[in-house]
Amino acid sequence: MIYLDHNATTSVSPEVLEAMMPYLTTEWGNPSSSYEFGSKLKMAVEKARNQVAQLLGANSREILFTSCATESNNTAFHASLKANPAKRHIITSGVEHSSVINDCMALEKEGYKVTYLPVDRDGLLKIVDLETAITTETAIVSLMWANNETGVVFPISDIAQVCKARGVLFHCDAVQAVGKIEIDLGKIQADYLSVAGHKFNAPKGVGALFVRNKAPFSPLIRGGHQERGRRGGTESVPLIVGVGKAAELARKKLLKYDVNVRPTRDALENGILRSIPNTELNGHSTQRLANTTSITFHGIEAESLLLLLNRYGICASSGSACLADSEEPSHVIKAMKPDNGASRQTVRFSLGTDNTLIDINAVLNKIRSAVQSLKC
Ligand code: PLP
Repeated sequence: MIYLDHNATTSVSPEVLEAMMPYLTTEWGNPSSSYEFGSKLKMAVEKARNQVAQLLGANSREILFTSCATESNNTAFHASLKANPAKRHIITSGVEHSSVINDCMALEKEGYKVTYLPVDRDGLLKIVDLETAITTETAIVSLMWANNETGVVFPISDIAQVCKARGVLFHCDAVQAVGKIEIDLGKIQADYLSVAGHKFNAPKGVGALFVRNKAPFSPLIRGGHQERGRRGGTESVPLIVGVGKAAELARKKLLKYDVNVRPTRDALENGILRSIPNTELNGHSTQRLANTTSITFHGIEAESLLLLLNRYGICASSGSACLADSEEPSHVIKAMKPDNGASRQTVRFSLGTDNTLIDINAVLNKIRSAVQSLKC
């Protein structure tokens, strides 16, 4: 198998599994218990919190563990809207992940007004559009750091500055940025920031939400006093330890991430664009993650191409994994290029540092022959 779908999920790294093992076997207590067998696990949870905080340039008291990034995103919306009941306006973009877009659409049904900022053909938004959209009614601005389908990176520092200057809460879905580009919440003035462990070699089922000190908060999941009363439910110590270890490893590998993954991504991208006619890149050529390439194969149904690639053992996708079984064309490509039918003819390849140039040459040959056979 050649796995080129790292934006969908990643494997659990051996070091992460090793760190988790004691908490899946002998250390199975409940951290809230009063006896030591359970209570000593609080230390493991706090160590993990610190590891995640360090990856984000945050204080560990600002990190809340969740079950996934969808929960983190929903929690940030819930917290900010509860804090400002009189403000009924939300700003986001038309290319956010479904965990944000669908929450916004549900909130619209409850009477909220949502502005979906447009993007240009490169997937970029204009800061002036954000500035114009903010009103005294705006409760929250939610914009992603890096797009899951195209890898396009939004100017998060500028966005955060605008929100701060205008006194509006800012939430950032940083799921695709974590472990790929430096995140320093000491410098970026976001109020909330969402993380998904399984995108950087932690297991599925654990995420985190950064909540800046003094940012308003009310829990989405009400229950016990876990997470300092911010999220009810017995902590999953093994998963939390896993995401902590993965964060530590991601931080160590961050400096070399770009140089490790960009040459293989570029070899794949250039190989396709140069040797297969009627192919087109989606997303800005430079303001983009080093691992992602979204390519439209004009005249070829993406699903047919992906099926053929699957037969060759190549894993890629037509967009977001959450929408892989949906009939709907990608809302991201539609928002960027409303005039062409490109969204059903588009394949996303997202590489990892384990992909080699040998893999890429094999993939290029298979893509060429798959495209050839689909044209006949
Ligand atoms: N946000 C972005 C940008 C994503 O890519 C994803 C997952 O693909 C999510 C949020 C949701 O993550 P999860 O499915 O782990 O909740």
